[in-house]
Amino acid sequence: MNSEMKKDNQAKDKNGIIEIMIWMLPAIMLSMMAKDIGGKTPEIVMSMILGGLGASIGFPLFWLTKDKSMSVKYGTFVFTVIGLIGIMAFILNNRTESDKRNLITCQICGYKAVEKKGGQCDVCIAQINDNFKDEEGYVSMEELIKEEQLYFFSMEENITFKDPEVYKDLDFKYLKDKNWKPIVSKKEVEIRRKEMEEIGKHIKVEVKKVN
Ligand SMILES: [Zn+2]
Repeated sequence: MNSEMKKDNQAKDKNGIIEIMIWMLPAIMLSMMAKDIGGKTPEIVMSMILGGLGASIGFPLFWLTKDKSMSVKYGTFVFTVIGLIGIMAFILNNRTESDKRNLITCQICGYKAVEKKGGQCDVCIAQINDNFKDEEGYVSMEELIKEEQLYFFSMEENITFKDPEVYKDLDFKYLKDKNWKPIVSKKEVEIRRKEMEEIGKHIKVEVKKVN
């Protein structure tokens, strides 16, 4: 084999590798996210879905560039990588804790923000369990839920119970469960809010007096 032919073969090999990379890379990169965005979908199923999605991006790119020059192929490859990283970063950044950690719905505030039944809610910080009930002096679970709901919802004006759909706490986001319903009424919350406001006024006055 003379050196000309060797060079030619090496070029063909490189060409083959870059073509396969353009084709396969989106499938590989997207299926790597299966665990992160799967939620309740089994990882293997999610990775097949994402792999298929990736292949449907990769194949047309491969097809469109297969007769083009090496620089076009490398350019396509680099842009595909950058594009995919951008998409992945965007998706991962916008995911809620509810999905990421597969959290369950808090009966009090309605956000999917509880690790396991009876655990502490990341959003309203209350717990639905006997210890918390005794600590806070509630006589029943119903009273606990009702009082904690009145407390939680009386902090905001124009209560809808459903908003915001995504609760933000620093970098953490939690989703409202659309099927959740409060056991208190808007009217009850409104009354509690006025009571709290009254108490707030008195506290302010007392603070001023001290000063
Ligand atoms: Zn809660």
